[in-house]
Amino acid sequence: METELVVIDEENINTEAEKAINHAGEIIKRGGLVAFPTETVYGLGGDALNPESSRKIYAAKGRPSDNPLIVHIADTEDLKLITEDVSETAVKLAKAFWPGPLTMIMNKSDKVPLETTGGLGTVAIRMPNNKIALELIKASGGYIAAPSANTSGRPSPTVARYCVEDLSGKIDMIIDGGQVGIGLESTIVDLTSDVPMILRPGYITADMIEKVIGKVSIDKTIIDSSSTLKPKAPGMKYKHYAPKGVLTIVSGPQDKVVEFINAETEKAKAEGKKCGVIGTDSTITLYKADTIKNLGKRDDENAIAHELFKALREFDDEGIDVMFSESFDDSGIGMAIMNRLLKAAGHNVIVL
Ligand code: AMP
Ligand code: MG
Repeated sequence: METELVVIDEENINTEAEKAINHAGEIIKRGGLVAFPTETVYGLGGDALNPESSRKIYAAKGRPSDNPLIVHIADTEDLKLITEDVSETAVKLAKAFWPGPLTMIMNKSDKVPLETTGGLGTVAIRMPNNKIALELIKASGGYIAAPSANTSGRPSPTVARYCVEDLSGKIDMIIDGGQVGIGLESTIVDLTSDVPMILRPGYITADMIEKVIGKVSIDKTIIDSSSTLKPKAPGMKYKHYAPKGVLTIVSGPQDKVVEFINAETEKAKAEGKKCGVIGTDSTITLYKADTIKNLGKRDDENAIAHELFKALREFDDEGIDVMFSESFDDSGIGMAIMNRLLKAAGHNVIVL
């Protein structure tokens, strides 16, 4: 299959861009797949109400079919068709955070095929905060199922070239809307339990949600590497976000971390391996690896989130065998950053 590639500037959706979005909407309506930008990461979209489209999404990504898809809508009113009932809690959260990086899990209506929900009776729903995405959802009939637009297991794409790398030839179209704003996937909150539970941390933190609806709980498996519990979001049990080489997170006092990483990279280099390091503004000049990625200021969590997946994909581009990353504070958005980093490293952590 030939994959069409179009570039659209979110800040300038002119008539040509509108035409391209309408064309993409038609592709989705007739059962095809389109990768598109959202504010979190790029999504791989198909018609959420068409079981055949969902099957195609799993096939294109190589995603296990028990890992449900998130349904993207452009109008809160559209919740009614695809859920059993829209609770007061859901309305409050939608008002506070949509369009935005919050996914809510609710009981599904029979309009949503089990192929889209990985066989579950619940459905995950969000409204993305990106003009291209919102226009595309409207143009395609209102309901786009879209997981991240990467081959299953690899870091999610925050720029279109990684959608091209993973999906070119397998899907109908890719819309390049530039580098995404946030860089980590949405927060997922399950509203079907008595106390709403965060199943995946993201840009919207537990504190932000609690200010709107009161107490929420957090799935213990999110950052606890020793936990033998099964995560409540089926997708969270899979190895994910991983670069091709071996990644180790090193935590401890800054000078010790730098010293340790430099000693380890020296050893690896002596064995003929290519080494990469993920550091921050305050340490970046101190490392001696082949490739050094600076995620920005340690206390600027937004910048770190924005750069993390790109850094991991670039390590793959550069053929890096051995990687070390500094560790980050896991409060606030830091919980989402550490959750992704720990998964990328297969929970391979050294504490000094
Ligand atoms: P992705 O689309 O790649 O961002 O992954 C979607 C995430 O949402 C996966 O971790 C899924 O397991 C999770 N998810 C989607 N639908 C549900 C649901 N109905 N119940 C629990 N988790 C869900
Ligand atoms: Mg994903």
